[in-house]
Amino acid sequence: MVKGKKDEFESVYKHENLISFRSLMRCQILVLSIVYFQTISVFAQDITVRLLERTNVSTVLFSPTDGKYVLINEKEDTIYVFKSDDAISVAIASERLLVKSAYGLNDIVSSVRMVGVGNSPNFHLRFNADKRDHSYFDRLTISVSDGALKLVNHVSIERYVARVVQSEVGYGADEEYYKIQSIICRTYATRNLVRHVVDGYDLCDHEHCQVYSGLKPATNEVMKATSATSGLVMVDQNNNLILSAFHANCGGQTANSEDVWREARSYLTSVEDTFCTGSRSAVWHKSMPVNEFVTQLGFSTNLAESADWSFKQPNRKKYFTLNADSVETAQMRRLLQLRSTYFDLQVRDGNVEFAGRGYGHGVGLCQQGAMKMAEIGYSYSQILGYYYKGVSLIPTTSLQPEK
Ligand SMILES: [Zn+2]
Ligand SMILES: [Zn+2]
Repeated sequence: MVKGKKDEFESVYKHENLISFRSLMRCQILVLSIVYFQTISVFAQDITVRLLERTNVSTVLFSPTDGKYVLINEKEDTIYVFKSDDAISVAIASERLLVKSAYGLNDIVSSVRMVGVGNSPNFHLRFNADKRDHSYFDRLTISVSDGALKLVNHVSIERYVARVVQSEVGYGADEEYYKIQSIICRTYATRNLVRHVVDGYDLCDHEHCQVYSGLKPATNEVMKATSATSGLVMVDQNNNLILSAFHANCGGQTANSEDVWREARSYLTSVEDTFCTGSRSAVWHKSMPVNEFVTQLGFSTNLAESADWSFKQPNRKKYFTLNADSVETAQMRRLLQLRSTYFDLQVRDGNVEFAGRGYGHGVGLCQQGAMKMAEIGYSYSQILGYYYKGVSLIPTTSLQPEK
């Protein structure tokens, strides 16, 4: 949650835009419909998430937090039943697993499943020398992969969504905003369920997929928002799950998908946004020597004295041009590590001075704009319909299998 001083550039036309914006919103409300089809679900309600792949886990301590757990080996034999007063340690022993309990279990297995009994079984883990408890719901499978423990959590997608939303948004946001992030997260997860198919699970728990942390259990507030939108995902006009891109702050105008990632998508088109311009990330400044600027961009170094350095973006531009050299603003952002592609620049005293707006790639939903809209009373469907053009909300049970 960020708040801060107003961006002067945008506040100039903020109020006049509000009127046209509200009438625009009325159109969007009609566009973003919630459609319910009666078809058979082709998507599982449980997903598998690999935990701490990058940590190189060699030992883990598993303990139920609530409920009873059953430990099953690779032959499907139940080898142990235990509750929260017990703990199981699992360590690598010559490419297999040594499993031990406080009360006498001592076995070597190839893989092991910890299956909870009851309504909402949950457990916590400690990895290697980390003394913190990482808590999770439902089931855990442990095996050996590339010399490390491969931990895979089987969890309901709704619990997964709540956990991811908590990590992404943090605490204290408006409930309507948590609903928005829940739908974005569920859409993204459902769209990417095949991402790790060759690895034998659905999603990983770090930024490659979405951050799913055992250290950030979802609060009741987030759980409530997730369950209020349970099963809902966003689809485009062809009923395909959308790429639910979002970024921190658009600076007053979101970007076209094709200007940042080459591929055009009907629902990721530029919109004006007057709601985020008062946020902390709405403006930025950067200064760098001209020599460094031209070298890093690979531009001609013998620039004429008369080179026209002044560059302005009243609206977002795809290219920055200087004499005969040209570069995409998206590429420029990567090369110069700029906060956004939405900037003006000029040269003063041998330095290139950027006056930028926004934070992030600028495509799709602007988080700080959406937060503001939620705060002042817009509903999650109105807000999603504003940033993602022409999309509908449907339950995952209505998705058709891909051909
Ligand atoms: Zn991943
Ligand atoms: Zn914005």
